[in-house]
Amino acid sequence: MGRSVSPATVAASCSLLHSWHMFFPDLTPYEYGYELPRSNVLNVGWLARGHTFPVGPVPEAFVNELRRLVKSPENLYRGYHTCEFCPEPPIVIDSEGRRVIPPPGETMGNGEIRVAGSRGIVYVAPVLVLHYVEKHSYQPPIEFVRAVMANDGPKRRKPTRGPQRR
Ligand SMILES: [Zn+2]
Repeated sequence: MGRSVSPATVAASCSLLHSWHMFFPDLTPYEYGYELPRSNVLNVGWLARGHTFPVGPVPEAFVNELRRLVKSPENLYRGYHTCEFCPEPPIVIDSEGRRVIPPPGETMGNGEIRVAGSRGIVYVAPVLVLHYVEKHSYQPPIEFVRAVMANDGPKRRKPTRGPQRR
């Protein structure tokens, strides 16, 4: 067993890591584990290398609300996902000669967010969706963008500046 890591070994370990990542086309019924697919629960932002995704501008308000949403993800058991569009994280060797991938911060995401849309639709997106939007110009389906921005509405509407109070 040599102590150095050949590029081929590193590549192999990375593809192994990526095999955990799951790709779902936007707006397909959400399906994971034992949960049966339901037509009102839709996937958004489950991107993966080898699959093209739409790019384009999104409203600033959408990004702001998305930032807030990913701070309280759910379904953490679904595990970590790594961004497949960023450069591979550097591999370091620890004191016992094992290959270790340091936490690359935002390029890894744990959990997912759920956003209620109109007509009883619920969108499920990985927390990485924020990273995809900010760093890779991913443009989610417009109905998801609208749902996220609508999510901002009722709860955060400020009571000040109303017509009755001035
Ligand atoms: Zn990335």
